[in-house]
Amino acid sequence: MSVRSGRDALGRAFAHGTAYGETLTERRVFPADSAEILRSISEPLPELPADPADVIDLMAERFAPATVATAGPRYFGFVTGGSLPAAMAADCLATMWDQNAGLYVMSPAAAIAEDIASRWFLDVLRLPSTCSVGFVTGCSMANFAAIAAARHELLRRVGWNVEADGLFGAPPIRVIVGGEAHASISGALRMAGLGADRVERTAVDDLGRMRPDDLAARLAAGGAGTPTIVCAQAGNVNTGGIDPLEAIARVARPSGAWLHVDGAFGLWAGASPRLAHLTAGAELADSWATDVHKWLNVPYDSGVVAVANPSAHRAAMSVSASYLLRSPDEPREPMDWTPEASRRARGFAVYAALRSLGRQGLAELIDRCCALARLFAERLRREPTLTILNEVILNQVLVRVVPPPGDRRVDPAIADALTRDTIARVQREGVCWLGGTRWRDMDAMRLSVSNWSTTEDDVIRSADAIARAAGHAFADRARDS
Ligand SMILES: *Cc1c(COP(=O)(O)O)cnc(C)c1O
Repeated sequence: MSVRSGRDALGRAFAHGTAYGETLTERRVFPADSAEILRSISEPLPELPADPADVIDLMAERFAPATVATAGPRYFGFVTGGSLPAAMAADCLATMWDQNAGLYVMSPAAAIAEDIASRWFLDVLRLPSTCSVGFVTGCSMANFAAIAAARHELLRRVGWNVEADGLFGAPPIRVIVGGEAHASISGALRMAGLGADRVERTAVDDLGRMRPDDLAARLAAGGAGTPTIVCAQAGNVNTGGIDPLEAIARVARPSGAWLHVDGAFGLWAGASPRLAHLTAGAELADSWATDVHKWLNVPYDSGVVAVANPSAHRAAMSVSASYLLRSPDEPREPMDWTPEASRRARGFAVYAALRSLGRQGLAELIDRCCALARLFAERLRREPTLTILNEVILNQVLVRVVPPPGDRRVDPAIADALTRDTIARVQREGVCWLGGTRWRDMDAMRLSVSNWSTTEDDVIRSADAIARAAGHAFADRARDS
């Protein structure tokens, strides 16, 4: 295998990738027959080498048809960002450079890019400039790193070295989360040895936001002096609700609790002057976890953890060995802030995303997605059979199919079935893609507008597709009953 054939393979990948990108606005969002395609791909491992360019051509032919256009403008499933052109190109460059971002001596470029990107990140999200920042795979890992830092610091304060001695015999740590905490918080608590099922869950309001009065009551009701972690959330995956962080911090701080914010996408509201009031008080927390592959539209995978107390962060994450050469003039080694040692240089794409958007472009991206979410809700509300379940304060819209007023079929189970049927029809049709959820014991469609390239026209086409699918679901039901 020669350098030349390697270059051909790269050229082929670039050509295929570019052509694919041009289909994103019009291709079916979910592939029509992906299962069939995938089945036909399976083959025993060949004995002989193949030409790299041929392998790339083969992959473009076989795998591309079974991809989902999550990077395109009409994918509204989960909370999924696309890829800003500069971020995608920078990520390709990072692959071609093949830098290991673990240590400064392995790549000054990667370390410095992370350093610059982390300062910009803290700046645009209005977080303390003195935080330590780690570049991880996503918000799940960011939550884990932050909780590990919290565990270190709270136990250190009561004279226990958790990194050295583990949790057996350690003083207990109390954990309080919102009643609508994301599943990844449970995962992080499990990995940190704090247990997912021993947490206390606070009452929440109509958008699933933690109620500070309930938090205050819990903190007052005992456990004074018990090391406590409070996990707040910015961005409820159903409603977009952002916990009242200022009020929560006012309650949590005097108690000595460690306040963590899971802000996978909601924290980005802070980058918009119009929406920053929603995350007011975020800067008072002790740690923050967020994604950049969601709302910042950096390619997968990419998340960021920030900790106000760098020494707790470093104590929880860093490892040392004689061969891990620390640069004498680089006190902040990248691997001190992440669970990994060797690591992809994710900072380049984050740098490129922020550098290409600028402060204003970022604010516009956030504002635009929220405006499009409101447009979605407005179009869908015109249909008598569609109800919007949440106040659309951010980029998330919850939609339920319900029989129109006056119809005798108001059974919630029928509305659930109609909603699920509508979701399945929208997914099959391929104009757009959205997923389902349960909210307050009701089935609902969940729309998340998080892609930089989504336009008003995409929203209108998708709203029409949803209305059409709901119409068919009703018609079928009427015929069957
Ligand atoms: C998406 C999300 C996560 C998990 O992020 P990953 O990038 O999938 O690891 C955690 N918390 C919230 C609120 C999220 O929306």
